[in-house]
Amino acid sequence: MRDAAIVTGVAVAVAGAEIAAVGPQHELERSYHDATRVDCGGRVLAPGFVDSHTHAIFGRPRFEEQELRASGLDYMEIARRGGGIHASVRDLRARSEDELSVMARGRLQRLAAYGVTTVEVKSGYGLTPEDELKSLRVIRRLAAVLPMRLVPTWLGAHEIPHEYRELPEGRSEYVHLLVSTMLPGVASEGLALFADVFCEPGVFTIDETRTILTAARSAGLGLKLHADELRPSGGAELAAEIGATSADHLAAISESGIRVLAESNTVATLLPGTMLFLGKDKQAPARALIDAGGAVALATDFNPGTSPTTNFPLIMTLGVSQLRLSVAEAFIAGTVNGAAALSLADRVGQIAPGFSADLALFDAADAREVPYWYGDQRCVGSWAKGRVCHPHTVELH
Ligand SMILES: [Zn+2]
Repeated sequence: MRDAAIVTGVAVAVAGAEIAAVGPQHELERSYHDATRVDCGGRVLAPGFVDSHTHAIFGRPRFEEQELRASGLDYMEIARRGGGIHASVRDLRARSEDELSVMARGRLQRLAAYGVTTVEVKSGYGLTPEDELKSLRVIRRLAAVLPMRLVPTWLGAHEIPHEYRELPEGRSEYVHLLVSTMLPGVASEGLALFADVFCEPGVFTIDETRTILTAARSAGLGLKLHADELRPSGGAELAAEIGATSADHLAAISESGIRVLAESNTVATLLPGTMLFLGKDKQAPARALIDAGGAVALATDFNPGTSPTTNFPLIMTLGVSQLRLSVAEAFIAGTVNGAAALSLADRVGQIAPGFSADLALFDAADAREVPYWYGDQRCVGSWAKGRVCHPHTVELH
């Protein structure tokens, strides 16, 4: 992860949706003399960021919970007062696909304005077959109109909905609904590439998670887990055992979890913005994971309750200041490894011939400035598959 090549004096040639060549400017200008020229002005051009963990399909933001948390109320008490994830579920169920599309579109464009060109987007605030399908159809609709690449994930197992929690056999009935009704519906419409489960004590157990993800794998989906966020419960170990593409959160991962994950092909996706926003002093053991040989990705966890940020470079700042990554490691975590967390590493996340023309230009002379100007908006342009995602100050024509 330390091997991020930073080069100067080079140009990038783009042909269609792909990068055709990277090399000395004078050589490329000769080989591609009739190409449209975009002058980057000697600034930092990075691979477009890959935000591999977001919950961007939601309705009303839950800003009122921030003060409640600051005053000392815990998650259970906020939920008892009608807040928490169940508030987002009630809200999303009452909204139409059109309404949700407009709201999500603006939020995804904010991500693009920070240099993100690939975004994983989860469902998970519907928790009924029709509302989960509605959320995934919003993602499909936006994928067709936005230039950025959207990767849809079905997260019907985000929480046990209220109406099932109140039933004596509600847990097992909801798991049955997920596996026998929701999943076949999602798979038959081809609405998701991944399935995800919130595997955490009090939400879905290890056994329930295994059941849901095993069924998802049989339905042809890639696998992800929300694992070991608050308490170590064997989530990372399960991710490695079932061959998940990523295990996400991991602030409470055990020693054995670190070892097992580092030896596996599962990417450890860390979400430092969430812990910061919740006021926790604990962060995932990024150094231990990397030093053990694990692949670490960084993501925003953009969601209305615990991480309402679209500022990807700020997450890189936290990667350096809270997780003790080097700047090179933070860039790799936000590009190459983010792509690996979405099974896209063979064509996304690098500025190299044959890779997707996903680029982000920053008002900075040195790559180290990107995480340095923390909270700042330094991205002046981003492109996905060669198309403009965020025209800030750069005129292409
Ligand atoms: Zn999440």
